[in-house]
Amino acid sequence: MIVVLKNSVSPEEEQAVVEEIKKLGYQPHVMHGVARTVIGAIGDEHSHRDLDVLNAWPQVESVTPIQQRHKLVSREAHPEDSTVNAGGVIVGGKKIQVMAGPCSVESEEQLMKTAHAVKAAGATMLRGGAYKPRTSPYEFQGLGEDGLKLLAKAREETGLPIVTELLSQDHAELVAEYADMLQIGTRNAQNFQLLIAAAKTGKPVLLKRGMSMRIMEWLLAGEYVLANQNPNLLFCERGVRTFEDYTRNTLDLSAVAVVKNESHCPVVVDPSQGCGKAALVRAMCKGAVAMGADALLIEVHPDPAHAISDAAQQIDLEGFGELMQELKPIAESVGREV
Ligand code: PEP
Ligand code: MN
Repeated sequence: MIVVLKNSVSPEEEQAVVEEIKKLGYQPHVMHGVARTVIGAIGDEHSHRDLDVLNAWPQVESVTPIQQRHKLVSREAHPEDSTVNAGGVIVGGKKIQVMAGPCSVESEEQLMKTAHAVKAAGATMLRGGAYKPRTSPYEFQGLGEDGLKLLAKAREETGLPIVTELLSQDHAELVAEYADMLQIGTRNAQNFQLLIAAAKTGKPVLLKRGMSMRIMEWLLAGEYVLANQNPNLLFCERGVRTFEDYTRNTLDLSAVAVVKNESHCPVVVDPSQGCGKAALVRAMCKGAVAMGADALLIEVHPDPAHAISDAAQQIDLEGFGELMQELKPIAESVGREV
């Protein structure tokens, strides 16, 4: 159910409604919007008492059922766009945030060089994997905690908040200690226990779309984050498997429009995993910005040809600088900025 509060409600009056929702056997999720406060009351409506009684409360404007299956992530529950704050960077506002950096953290030199260059070109967050989900167990698995330490050092030097992958529940506390945003990869997009562990760290969660995931399944996976008391969720389109093998994946830009329509959560596009070819990344970024993406996640490497992972799709430092310039007029044309 959605409980909408009246405009002038005090924090005490809001708290009284929250307590009553709990007493009736539901879990309250308070969402403060610019215009109004909405409380999502989640629970089994058949086995609990009726929330309609709240209609009689003076501070309550309305009580209505949530029709959508993806309750808390739906626009029905929260009509305005929500924003996510990751280490001071706001995703979901007018500014399109650019998260750039290598696929994997490989060395101090590689990471620092990339971090300084992407910062100078206008990136607002640094990406880099320390725990890597590799298809083969014989491929580079990432530097682990040493990689996290390097990311923290790069943040210290550049001020760029960090987004990095959380691969296993066992690492949740450790990765959350270093990261400003936790990435859940395509291979783990329906690993619900991992999603719950990520949610419970309280850090923003960037949920990649599973490579064979329908959009509704993706929205419901995201629901696990909000249902576990973490409102800081971002959906990241990174391409899906199709019959087409010219590109590594098929970047589904229609998902940007669909998810923006269905959900209030920010939408991020990762064109690097999406197309798998460095030469195509710039065009995909421009398309994503035009479609209404709130942020881009882009793989950038100082020497892509010698990258330890995803060499074919990483763009170089110069190419990244040019891309940032090319994005400006497109962002402006859709009322945004980069
Ligand atoms: C990555 O961002 O490097 C990555 C492994 O992403 P995905 O899970 O989308 O393949
Ligand atoms: Mn990669």
